[in-house]
Formats: sequence, C-alpha cells, structure tokens
Amino acid sequence: MAKTKTMEDLLLSEMKDLYDAEKQLVKALPKMAKATTSEELREGFLEHLEQTKEHVTRLERAFSMLGQKAGGKKCVAMQGLIEEGEEVLDEIGEGPVRDAALIGAAQRVEHYEMAGYGCSRTFAETLGHSDVAELLQRTLDEEKETDEKLTEIAEGLVNEEAVQSSGGAGA
Ligand code: FE
Ligand code: FE
Repeated sequence: MAKTKTMEDLLLSEMKDLYDAEKQLVKALPKMAKATTSEELREGFLEHLEQTKEHVTRLERAFSMLGQKAGGKKCVAMQGLIEEGEEVLDEIGEGPVRDAALIGAAQRVEHYEMAGYGCSRTFAETLGHSDVAELLQRTLDEEKETDEKLTEIAEGLVNEEAVQSSGGAGA
C-alpha cells in the first residue's frame, strides 16, 4: 500500500488528486451555473468551467513532462465539497441567498485547489521541475483570481438581498 516513498512520488500523488478534482469540477460547474439566478454568477461559473477544462489538459501536459500518465486516484475531498454544494440546492430556493451559498461552496472548492496547486508547485520547483512548476503556478493564479471574483459577486448579492427583503416587507 505504501506506494508513495519519495518526494517525486508525493508530487505525482498530489497531481493525481488535483487531476481527479478538476475532472469532477468539469461535471459540477454546469450544474452550479444552472442553479443560480444571477447572470453574473452564471457567467462566472461558465467562464471558470472553460478554465477548468484547461486545468485538466495542463495537468496532462505536466504528467507527460514527468514521463507519467495522468489518473488513477479519486479525490474524496472534492467529492465531499461538491456534495455540500448540492445540499445548497435542496435547502435553499432560487434567489440571492442560494446564490450566496453557492459562492460559499465554490470558494471552498477554489481554496482546496489553491492548497493543492500551491504545494504541488513548491514540490515541483524544489525537485527541479521548473517547467511543471510553471504550469502549476499558472493554474494557481487562475484559481486565486476566481476566488477574488467570487468575493466581489458575493458583495453585490448581499446588497441585492437586502433590497429584496426590504421591498418584500413593503418598507
Ligand atoms: Fe481548477
Ligand atoms: Fe477552480
């Protein structure tokens, strides 16, 4: 069972985890886009879907740079994060509150990816695979940008909800 012995093994293991996580996200993001009533958030999810597909191919490129094949690992953490995102749909009806909850779920995903890419990048750099490190850094930057954009959209939603609530109360 102890297949991971060296830092090289660990780098591959981390990358395999990310590879599966990204592939799960390619399936989940269209569902999240469908579940929101915010045009801005929908566009954000769909834009990140395109980036996520690129993250998958970037990882495939990184594996081939290392003379390895992608795949072979299940990212249980991402499965859990996506399941929690799906719970939002059961628990909250359409509207800004649901949208804000979707953003919370999406940001958990981005932070998980940021941690994975950050440490993989560092391992690759330290092991002298600067070409791989550069690819991982590029994806890391996109995950960070996505996270920041989600924060901006969330700020707008909180205002929107406040307006709707006061409007509903006839104030
Ligand atoms: Fe990604
Ligand atoms: Fe992402």
